[in-house]
Amino acid sequence: MMMKVNGKTKVYGIIGDPVEHSLSPLMQNAAFEALNLNCVYVPFAVVPSNLEAAVKGLFALGVGGFNVTIPHKTAIIPFLDQISGDAELCGAVNTVNCENGRLVGYNTDGIGFIRSLKEDLAFEPQGSRVLLIGAGGAARGALASLCGAGTASIIVANRTRERGDTLIETFCSRFPQLRFESIPLEDLNKNLIRADLVVNTTSVGMGKTSFEALELGAIKDGAAVYDMVYSPPETPLLAAARARNLRCANGLGMLAAQGEAAFKIWTGVDSPLGLMKRELASMF
Ligand code: NAP
Repeated sequence: MMMKVNGKTKVYGIIGDPVEHSLSPLMQNAAFEALNLNCVYVPFAVVPSNLEAAVKGLFALGVGGFNVTIPHKTAIIPFLDQISGDAELCGAVNTVNCENGRLVGYNTDGIGFIRSLKEDLAFEPQGSRVLLIGAGGAARGALASLCGAGTASIIVANRTRERGDTLIETFCSRFPQLRFESIPLEDLNKNLIRADLVVNTTSVGMGKTSFEALELGAIKDGAAVYDMVYSPPETPLLAAARARNLRCANGLGMLAAQGEAAFKIWTGVDSPLGLMKRELASMF
């Protein structure tokens, strides 16, 4: 059904570069429509050199809030009035809410990740041992949320070793009770045995690309595998996990859950149960 925009319609959106591939307009508009809210969610392509002007412009135009995607998640922080504890720990903002004339930044990626682990993998992070592949923005968000969820130990395997080391150092000092380790990507196979959960936070898997040297043979029976990539729905990593009869899930549940958390921040109400995930799944 076509949404009716009128003089009272509240505008929400997403800023990114590129942004045309984003599935957020689909799921957010479906939720607005289902709840009969007079709101609309639109994509805004913003190149990095225009970020400050775009943020000021969105504020001046009175938008209700907006999502932030690559490459602005960290760069936007100086242009906001306040950020939440989660966003500070991640060093990244994916949701901005206009609250009483102030721009407040949040990070709902971590909330979405932990919820998807529980709902899509039946995985409980408390006391677990996790092996994260990657050390970029998504890894940082996953690390922050796993630390908050009571994970016992986290190994980071990254192609650029120094980036993994730096990421670990930041969290070591904040969470002295947890065990952290950074390993080179080449050592992935021999460390699989130490993990209850293996998470791919890199873009490897998109377009059927794969970690050529990764051999899931050594992974523990009963371990789980999570791939933040959701297009294609079954990445080579997930296909290998399925062939080993391991619990596994792609990042679609995380995408839906981070969107639901943003929706709640903006509107104060829950989006209808499962709606965003169904909308996303319909695209594949
Ligand atoms: P990013 O900050 O650019 O980091 C990219 C990471 O991928 C780095 O660790 C990089 O290693 C690694 N990498 C890239 N190409 C590689 C290759 N060929 N071999 C090995 N490692 C490689 O990006 P990001 O924001 O973390 O996003 C990463 C992925 O997560 C994207 O595909 C994104 O769509 C996905 N994601 C999904 C969700 C969701 O809701 N499902 C949310 C956030 C992100 P180096 O450090 O060596 O460059």
